[in-house]
Amino acid sequence: MINEFPQTLTIAGSDCGGGAGMQADLKTMQMRRVFGATVIVAITAQNTLGVQKAYPLTTEQINAQFASIADDFRIRACKTGMLADIPTVQIVAENLRRYDFGPYVLDPVMVAKGGAKLLADDAIAEVKRDLIPLCTLITPNLPETEKLTGIKVEQPEQMKEAARQLQSMGAKNVLVKAGHFNDPDYATDYVLLADQRDFWMKAKRVHTKRTHGTGDTISSCIVAELAKGKPIEEAIKISKQFVTASIANTIQIGHGHGPLNLWA
Ligand code: PLP
Repeated sequence: MINEFPQTLTIAGSDCGGGAGMQADLKTMQMRRVFGATVIVAITAQNTLGVQKAYPLTTEQINAQFASIADDFRIRACKTGMLADIPTVQIVAENLRRYDFGPYVLDPVMVAKGGAKLLADDAIAEVKRDLIPLCTLITPNLPETEKLTGIKVEQPEQMKEAARQLQSMGAKNVLVKAGHFNDPDYATDYVLLADQRDFWMKAKRVHTKRTHGTGDTISSCIVAELAKGKPIEEAIKISKQFVTASIANTIQIGHGHGPLNLWA
């Protein structure tokens, strides 16, 4: 039947190097056996060594893509990644309110591993006001958690406090990713669900610089699993396993922060 196959949407920046951004999202969606569509909001010139250039698209260009997607597809789950600046955040929020794309995963991308800004500082307030109240799940890493909540996260208890604060801002479910924590042995993430159940997800830390696109991959894997009808808790756990395996079995591509091995 037309439109019954699980269809997903990523609203994100393009990484011409293929390891992060909308390219990582689409590859992950393909691996997880769902159909992926894209609204591209910015184009970056980048590789595993860093981001060389970034060009936001215009409001008109972004709106046109949303209209094309909404006119034809039945999107069952969606995500946002890199959103560049205030006008982009605003136009994306407007479109997410206008169309029903199912559960929405907000990956509040701010800075790339090489240090390039992917979201202007002054757009953070806009993300908090316009996007967090719309999202089914927010997936910040620790630096993003600190920027959004103002809480300096040095202990597990502060991860819990920050997650509660993100919920009070309107996020239904929260996944705080602790990949940036100082624990040399484990990467332990914290999940706070809408019904107030919470749990930790512990994975052995893999010492590698080949982690380009990790955040994009986990959020788009969650989107894929939600589109297939998995409950949020299961979607998060499956995705953590998928990303951990993709980091553990690295492939050698590029000279810097290489991409994940999604075939692992
Ligand atoms: N480039 C784009 C367009 C992205 O969306 C992202 C992450 O969301 C990155 C780069 C970041 O990649 P990295 O994992 O190397 O920090």
